[in-house]
Amino acid sequence: MKTKKPNAELVWKQLDDSLVPRLRLSVADRAAYSYLVRHSRLEGKPQIHFSLPWLARGIRMSGISARRAVCRLIDHKALRMVECNTRGHVMEVRLPDEILAEHLKEMASRPAAAVAPSANLEKEDFLRNTELRQAIHAREAGRCFYCLKRHTPSTRCLDHVVPRNQWGDNSYRNLVSCCLECNSRKGQCRADDFLRSLFRDRKLTESELAGRLHALDALTAGKLVPPLPADPIPAPRSPAISGRRALRRSRTS
Ligand SMILES: [Zn+2]
Repeated sequence: MKTKKPNAELVWKQLDDSLVPRLRLSVADRAAYSYLVRHSRLEGKPQIHFSLPWLARGIRMSGISARRAVCRLIDHKALRMVECNTRGHVMEVRLPDEILAEHLKEMASRPAAAVAPSANLEKEDFLRNTELRQAIHAREAGRCFYCLKRHTPSTRCLDHVVPRNQWGDNSYRNLVSCCLECNSRKGQCRADDFLRSLFRDRKLTESELAGRLHALDALTAGKLVPPLPADPIPAPRSPAISGRRALRRSRTS
């Protein structure tokens, strides 16, 4: 599907003058975003199907740097995961004005919140805004859900336990905070199989594996409720502007 090509000069001015400072994009984020915009929106295509190695080669960075940049861009809603499979990712690429408009709408929706978290919890999309994404990270308390290694905001991401392309949702029962390495290695694996592979690779001890499998059962049973923001959860936005679906993961699956 092709759409009207945007004004490239305007796009680049908005990128440099507004998007980079407002979102505090790093050099890597900017390079990845520019490259993806170049090969999608500037060609009149709203989406792009790409692999991380292709992106890494294009921006002359390592694969892990490219993956991290994509993760951050998904968090910033500059990218939206449409599909993730063994051949790469299909992502919607948003232009600077679209990204900024979405951020403004998200901020504007907060005072209008009227639904208590407890009433919304089971239906809540935890990729919908920063507070909800942070709640998932907070629940794991700085450790990867899978390998238990400590991670930092720059080395972590959210992972769909059941991948999006297998109809996994964005509920707190299907999202975990994990390190980028586990996110990358897990791919389309079942979470329990992936945990067993970590044990075989000696990344987990036998007791840690048992604990992780127990935690996985607790997660899917709804027993690992994340610490919710003190304020009520903002009301959902329209489907047309709903947030990232992905791999933020780099890949969230
Ligand atoms: Zn890990």
